[in-house]
This record gives sequence, C-alpha cells and structure tokens, in this order.
Amino acid sequence: MKKYDYLIVGSGFFGSVFANLATKAGKKCLVIEKRSHVGGNAYSEEKNGIMVHVYGAHIFHTSNEKVWSYINQFGEFNNFVNCPIAKYKGEVYNLPFNMNTFSKMWKDVITPQEAKDKIASQRKGVTEIKNLEQQAISLVGVDIYEKLIKGYTEKQWGCSCTDLPAFIIKRLPLRFVYDNNYFNDKYQGIPAKGYTKIFENMLEGIDQKYNSNYFDDREYYDNLATKVVYTGAIDEFFDYCYGMLSYRSLRFEESILDEDNFQGVAVVNYTEKEIPYTRIIEHKHFTFNKCKGTIITKEYPLTWTKGSEPYYPINDDKNNAIYEKYADLASKNPNVLFGGRLANYKYYDMDKIIETAFEMARKEFGPDII
Ligand code: FAD
Ligand code: UDP
Repeated sequence: MKKYDYLIVGSGFFGSVFANLATKAGKKCLVIEKRSHVGGNAYSEEKNGIMVHVYGAHIFHTSNEKVWSYINQFGEFNNFVNCPIAKYKGEVYNLPFNMNTFSKMWKDVITPQEAKDKIASQRKGVTEIKNLEQQAISLVGVDIYEKLIKGYTEKQWGCSCTDLPAFIIKRLPLRFVYDNNYFNDKYQGIPAKGYTKIFENMLEGIDQKYNSNYFDDREYYDNLATKVVYTGAIDEFFDYCYGMLSYRSLRFEESILDEDNFQGVAVVNYTEKEIPYTRIIEHKHFTFNKCKGTIITKEYPLTWTKGSEPYYPINDDKNNAIYEKYADLASKNPNVLFGGRLANYKYYDMDKIIETAFEMARKEFGPDII
C-alpha cells in the first residue's frame, strides 16, 4: 500500500488543478515542485505594495463558464482589460490590430471599408501563405507588418519571419471596429490578491514539497504513489531518448523606480528590432494600484540551452515529429499521466490548461467531478 494515490510533479496550473480535484474525489496527493514556490509561471509576489508577475504578464481570460466559476472559488478577480500599446521608433499604436491602429497608421483611413481596401492594396504580392511573413501581410498589409510585426517577431523567436509557421500570428485578434481589448473572451481579469493566493487556496490541506526535483530521486518518488501526474518537460522524462526538443527562453529584468507612473499602461510592446527587449510591463496597472513608486519588468527573448527555463515550445515540423514519438511512449505508460504545456509541448493559455486538467480529472474520477 503506497502512501499517496497521486504524486504530482509541478505546481503550475495543471498540477494544482488536478491535485485539487483529486483531493475532492477523496484521493491523497503529494505535490512536488523544483522551484522554491508554488504556481509555475503564473506565480506572483508582492513587493513595495505592488503585485509583481515574476515570470511575465499573466492576464486571465476565458469564455468557458466552468473554468471561470471554478477559478473564482479561490479568489476574486478584478475587471482589468488588457489594452497594450506598441511603440515603434517614437510612434505609438494600439494593439491588437483594430480600427484605432489602422486610422493612426494611415491618415486617409477612418472607416472599416477604407481599412479593408488599404490592406487589400498592400497584400498584392502575397499569393500563398506558407510562413508568418506571408500570413501577416495578407492579414494586415505591408506597413503594419514592417512596423509592428517583423521586428517584434524576429526578436521573440530569434529567426526570420519567413522561417516561422503562419499560425503564431493568428493568435492575435484582428478587428474592424474601434476596440483595443487584446482578447476576445467573455471573462477577463487579474486576481485581486495575486495568483499565488489562488494557488495556495487550491492546494489547501494537500501535502507539498518545494525545492524538490523529481529527477533527483525518481525511484524514491515513484515508490511514494500509485500514479504519477507529470507536468515537466516530456523529453526529460524519457531521458532525451529521441533527442532534445527546442524551446525559446526569456530573461526578465525587474527595476524599482522612484516615480509613480512610468508608462501609463500595463504592457508596452517594443516592435523595432534594434531594442533588445520585446516588452515592458508596469505591474501596478494590473490592479489599478495608486501607491507611491512603481515596478517595471523588461522581457528579453533568449536562446534556450539545456538548463535554462523552457518558456515557449518551438512547434515546427522537426520538433513536432520528435514530440509525437515521446507522446507515443507516454501513451504506453498507464501509471504516469502527462499534462500541462511542457508535457504536451504546446503553448497553452492558463484557461486552456485548466480545461485539460478538468478533462484528465473526469477520466480519472468520473464525469461529475467537475
Ligand atoms: P507551468 O506553469 O510551467 O508549471 C509547471 C511546473 O512544473 C513549474 O513550476 C516547474 O518548475 C515544475 N517542474 C517541471 N519539472 C519539474 C521536475 N522535474 N520536478 C519538480 N517540478 C518540476 N497565459 C494566459 O492565459 N495569459 C497570459 O497573459 C499569459 N502570459 C504568459 C506570459 C509568458 C511570458 C509565458 C511564458 C506564459 C504566459 N501564459 C499566459 C501561459 C501560462 O504561463 C501557462 O498557460 C501556464 O503557466 C501553464 O501551466 P502548467 O502547469 O502547464 O506549466
Ligand atoms: N506579435 C507581434 N507584435 C506585437 C505582439 C505580437 O508581431 O506587438 C506577434 C509575435 O509573433 C508573437 C505573436 O504575435 O509571437 C503572438 O503574440 P502574443 O501577444 O500572443 O504573444 P505572447 O504574449 O504569448 O508572448
């Protein structure tokens, strides 16, 4: 008889939601986490009275009623709406691409039809869509591509837009209305008391161990529980037997400033290639905080090497093929359940991760668990 029903490796959204639902189903869980804190990349920390998003801006958004009501059990969300600004060589534009962007970019564009005509006149050279550059020009025309997409994307991914898959840019909304909301979802907000509090509430009463890497003593951990829920990198789990998957990493540079309002908005994207960071976030604006002083974080894209943080999977054909081989191995391992963005090698927003944790819980504990 093992001490736990589930050993959960990783305390991000996937691991924490699964642990919460398993406990609700009467199962005994242990969550182990290699970092010193809960919450994965959504972790937040209070500094100088300001809630800081330690691993980059995390804005919660969903259209899924179940996800929204579930997450609200663990803490109240405010009504923050993300309306980022793009800065290009001293010019500022609204994001996502909408009528405010178009009318500022083109002085002769005011109506949606004028914007559509302008874009159509700028996409003439594009006859097929095989890469991000062709996709972007076809969606928004050459001017927006050159000023707001090319430099940002090439910094972000460390390669040319002609070598990137088209789907990356399709994550962004494109609208022919005057609306700067970055997301299309029904619900959006930031936890009023920070994400960390949400995780602490979700894991209340559940055994947790921090600074504990599963691979430091795999055999010991496996012997503790009947099943393992693994939310780390899938290639590491299988000892890189099919080779290493590639990621893009980031470096965050935080500064405490002796001024009250540095940029007037939570997120400013720097879209020219010459500036080495992609965005600056000013944390106090996420919670409408009027305190003295401010904290900003610059986000620098970084080449990923073994040992650095794997933030974004590189879902090109080569890496997807390697991942499929690992996924096949994973499916033959009935006592290990793989979940989350690293085990699935896919970029997921928080709400989608919660949905996948719900699905796994339903498979394990029946359809009524959530
Ligand atoms: P993670 O949060 O990465 O958690 C996995 C955990 O497992 C980590 O804590 C890790 O330390 C731990 N772990 C890994 N290996 C081991 C091991 N061997 N032993 C022990 N522990 C281990 N989503 C949104 O919805 N809105 C946003 O605005 C948003 N912004 C983002 C901005 C950035 C810069 C990034 C990188 C992501 C953003 N996301 C956003 C996505 C969001 O971070 C993810 O959806 C979410 O964190 C995924 O949860 P997860 O549990 O799968 O993974
Ligand atoms: N993007 C861009 N300019 C911007 C913002 C985004 O070209 O000002 C592109 C870029 O290729 C990026 C993709 O759109 O990788 C998706 O942007 P999103 O904001 O969703 O990126 P994330 O916040 O997930 O890093």
